[in-house]
Amino acid sequence: MKILKFGGTSMASAECILRVAKIIHDTLATGPAAAVVSAMSGITDELIRLGDSAARGEDTLERVEAIRRRHLEAAEELLTGEEVAFVATHRDETMEELGRLLQGASLVGECSPRTRDRILSCGERLSARLLAASLRCLGTPAEFCDARDLIVTDEAFGNAAVDMETTGDRVRRHFGGAGACQIVTGFIATGPSGATPTLGRGGSAYTASILGAALSAERIEIWTDVDGVMSADPRIVPGAFSLSALSYAELMELSHFGAKVVYPPTLRPARALEIPLVIRNTFNPSFAGTSVVEHIKPNGKHVRGISSVNEVALLRLEGDGMVGVPGIASRLFGVLARWDISVILISQASSEHSICFAVEPGVVDEAQRAIDGEFELERGAGYVEPVVVERDFSIIAVVGETMCRIPGIAGRVFSALGNRGINIRAIAQGSSEFNISFVVSQDDHGEAVLTVHDAFFSAAPDADAVRAGG
Ligand code: ADP
Ligand code: ASP
Ligand code: MG
Repeated sequence: MKILKFGGTSMASAECILRVAKIIHDTLATGPAAAVVSAMSGITDELIRLGDSAARGEDTLERVEAIRRRHLEAAEELLTGEEVAFVATHRDETMEELGRLLQGASLVGECSPRTRDRILSCGERLSARLLAASLRCLGTPAEFCDARDLIVTDEAFGNAAVDMETTGDRVRRHFGGAGACQIVTGFIATGPSGATPTLGRGGSAYTASILGAALSAERIEIWTDVDGVMSADPRIVPGAFSLSALSYAELMELSHFGAKVVYPPTLRPARALEIPLVIRNTFNPSFAGTSVVEHIKPNGKHVRGISSVNEVALLRLEGDGMVGVPGIASRLFGVLARWDISVILISQASSEHSICFAVEPGVVDEAQRAIDGEFELERGAGYVEPVVVERDFSIIAVVGETMCRIPGIAGRVFSALGNRGINIRAIAQGSSEFNISFVVSQDDHGEAVLTVHDAFFSAAPDADAVRAGG
């Protein structure tokens, strides 16, 4: 069994969906396969905005109609015969549900996380039905599958945790009895009370990995709009090239620091069973893409890729009373964990006088309240200063599994940046030494990524790395 996941960009229009259908058709010729799909590109973002607009009491009718029209137009191009009416009935039902949910949010003046997730589920439900019907119109037996029948989670809306055991049983039972190719909605799940939690932004790839693990799939293919995982975000580095192979650990580091191709939790289920993940390009299907496995053959390249998070805030806890006092870091990160605030990077000077860390800009106020509360007594006594917040920074990570054995990599990164006059605000190196990450001002973000990419990859890529574009 192969599990194929198609992201929003692969589902963007009738023309794209036709490409997807062709890829699925060709894959089925080589053995059993199932597909997991995202909502059409931009739909999830628009649904989030619609929920917020409704909560503010704004009129959303026209924008809902635009979503309906976009799916209708794609259906008109793709579907024939009885599929037209069949899909229309389901589309109308889903759109009515969306309308009711927005009306509810408007009435109570709030779009709760529970309601928001339910609203978001409409995107994947619309796109998966459309693809399943398109395949049938092309003569490929295919069946829509609502992942809420398979994937069981808690009700941490927006980022639900999966009950792997129950889910595995349900998936195996469902697939055991399925004849046609299953077209599964990504991203959505079912909670204990019957709610519809989502798995986090980009979560469709995670859905694919969960199914792949439950079915001990031979491989999981993530189909997107670029030639696999690239040496850097191609939107920042036009000369970025596609990597033919990566280890799970390397992809984990790259995706933690912003390489958007694969949502980080995706790696866990696949890695546990060593199921290869292959990242491929829907718009260049003959290209082999990037294979992600446990161990890759050394190819002399110690730096594999560079990724970055464009917008972070830096927080700093300082104080003379912190020096030599054990447990400060544990209390600091403990309170952040209790508040459910995720820390992207940590750096501590060896003097212990200050601890600096980076978080997403949206959680700064919460983090500040949490920390100032935790250290209230110490602040009162003057041992610890109020937490200092600075905004508009970017994090850049240089990643490679074999970097740890090679001296001088950090030197090369920082001298290249120094030569360009780019100031570095904080540095962190994971103990795994799979990555060196550093913080620069957001204004320097693009130039810093280009500079580091140039420092390691300015020569022609070796045989293991193929120039992108095709
Ligand atoms: P999808 O619609 O398939 O889910 P996304 O837009 O979510 O696609 O993710 C793919 C995008 O991730 C690419 O178009 C690319 O711009 C971006 N990206 C960022 N870093 C990388 C990287 N290192 N390799 C490949 N793509 C990257
Ligand atoms: N549609 C969801 C999102 O945009 C899930 C996904 O595309 O993977 O985040
Ligand atoms: Mg995506």
